[in-house]
Order: sequence, then structure tokens, then C-alpha cells
Amino acid sequence: MPQEIDVLVSEVGPRDGLQSIKRTMPTKAKLDWIQALAAAGLQEIEVGSFVSPRLLPQMTDCASLVKEANKLEGLTVLALVPNLRGAERAIAAGAHKLTMPPSASRAHSLNNIGKTPEEAIEEVRRVCALRDSLPIERRPDVEVGISTAFGCTLEGTVSEDWGIEMAGLLAKAGADSIGLSDTTGYANPAQIKRMFRRLRSEIGAEKMAGAHLHNTRGQGLANVVAALEVDVTTFDSSLGGLGGCPYAPGATGNIVTEDLVFMLEAMGLHTGVDIEALIVAREVLLRGLPDEAIYGNLPEVGLPKGFTYANEKGAR
Ligand code: ZN
Repeated sequence: MPQEIDVLVSEVGPRDGLQSIKRTMPTKAKLDWIQALAAAGLQEIEVGSFVSPRLLPQMTDCASLVKEANKLEGLTVLALVPNLRGAERAIAAGAHKLTMPPSASRAHSLNNIGKTPEEAIEEVRRVCALRDSLPIERRPDVEVGISTAFGCTLEGTVSEDWGIEMAGLLAKAGADSIGLSDTTGYANPAQIKRMFRRLRSEIGAEKMAGAHLHNTRGQGLANVVAALEVDVTTFDSSLGGLGGCPYAPGATGNIVTEDLVFMLEAMGLHTGVDIEALIVAREVLLRGLPDEAIYGNLPEVGLPKGFTYANEKGAR
């Protein structure tokens, strides 16, 4: 990790949040937001998705966002790539890390990307071959987050054995790291513990990526605590829980960055992120998307009296 921290908070709002809402945020407003997020101390930001502009017009400006975000010092710039074509575009733009979302659910995979999970694993293999064909200094990391690993809105229960087997196949296909995504907000803390334990024994600690959690059913932070207990140290979240859920009015999309950072710091885990600066970033976000619904408890009530950041606490 670039700076000495205990837990890496990976901000996915500019990708997961923005792709889940109908409106398109102007490029300049996205950049202002990304700058405000980096200024708050977030060390990793997923700035967009190299998906076909036909499917997600909100993400058309991804290449220019990657190029601009690359100018921010110390920031790891991530982009989602659904396939080889997206990976080529992300590499041309200079993304540090590519994140691929093959789905454990067969129905979700076919519906989302028109491929079976096995075909999606082959696509990851092709992207890894592309990575390996580049000079070492230009190779991006290829991270995979297995979507719908905890359940699927189409299929319901998704086999845990298959999710873990898929992680093993993805490691063999050349992925640098593999994490698990609760795309649908189905996961519970017991399942999180079980699955991340199994993931570690399947692929090894050095290939473990983090947890991508949604708060659709209010389990988000409980799931974070469960994952911390089995040594997961990277969490995706989005500022203001941007994105929401069309099926659960009032529910946040991804877990809320502000609440996540507050919980981690209060637990004594150093994130390097400044909570007041995140509140400023909310204003920047809302300036670019006036009246958009955003979420979070901490921003509503503020920091508790006497709050100290993890690195300010005395000997523990
Ligand atoms: Zn997501």
C-alpha cells in the first residue's frame, strides 16, 4: 500500500455510483469530485468503466478521466473493464489497475455480459495475456471481483462451492488478485466470514483482493466487521452511498465511504482518510448532480465529541 495504513478504502462512486443513476454527470464535475476524493486521502479510486458507450452513456468519458486522475499524486487509478476491448482502451488511457467483474451466477452473467461464467473466465485469461505482452513498467494490475458471489436477484442462491472454484480458475487464468462482490446486497456476516476464509485457502493470501459490498438490506457495515475478522483489508465503498437501489427506496448503493471510514478509524484502524474532507467532497458531488439522493449517517450528525483518528490515539 502506498502509505502506511491498516485498511484500504477503495472509492467506487464514480463508477458503481454513477452507473446506477439515470443522469450523466458532466466530465468537469466528475473530475472536481475525483479531485475532492483524492484530497480527502483516498488512495484508490475507480474512476469509470470502459464499457460500450451504447450500454452506459454515463461512462463515455472514462479515458479522459483516467488521464486526468493519473495526474493526482499518489493515487491508484482503477477502471472497470468488462472485456478485452475495454482492457485495450483502459491500458491506452494509462489505468494503473483494471478490475473485471465476471459473475458467479450463470443467469446474471448471461444477462449482464452475454457470456457464461466459463466464457467470462476465458476473457480474463485474454486480458491477462494482453497484460503480459506489455513491457513490465506498463503492465496494469488485473484485479477480479466475482460478482453475485453471495446471491443473485435472478437466480437466488448461488453455489458457494462454485464461487470458490471460480476464484481458483481465475487465479490460474492469471488474475493478479481476486475478491468477492455482494453485487445484490444479499450477503450476511456469517456468509462473508465463511466465503473469505475459503477464498484465502483457495488462492492464497497474496492473491486476495477485497470485499465489494452493497448496503441494500442494511448489512453493509456488519459485513465489513465480519470480513475484518478474517483479515480482509480492502473495502470498496462509495461517497454518499451514491447509486441507491431501485428496489429498496432509501437504501444506499455501495456501503457509504463516510460511515465506513468513521467506523474503521473509531475501531483504531488507520485509513489515511479525513472525514471532514469527505463531507466537503459530498458538496462537490452534489454540485455536479444537484438534488441527487445521497446517504450516510455520519454526515447527518457529525463526528462524536472527543473523536480521534486511529493514528492520533495514544498507545493502544
Ligand atoms: Zn457494486
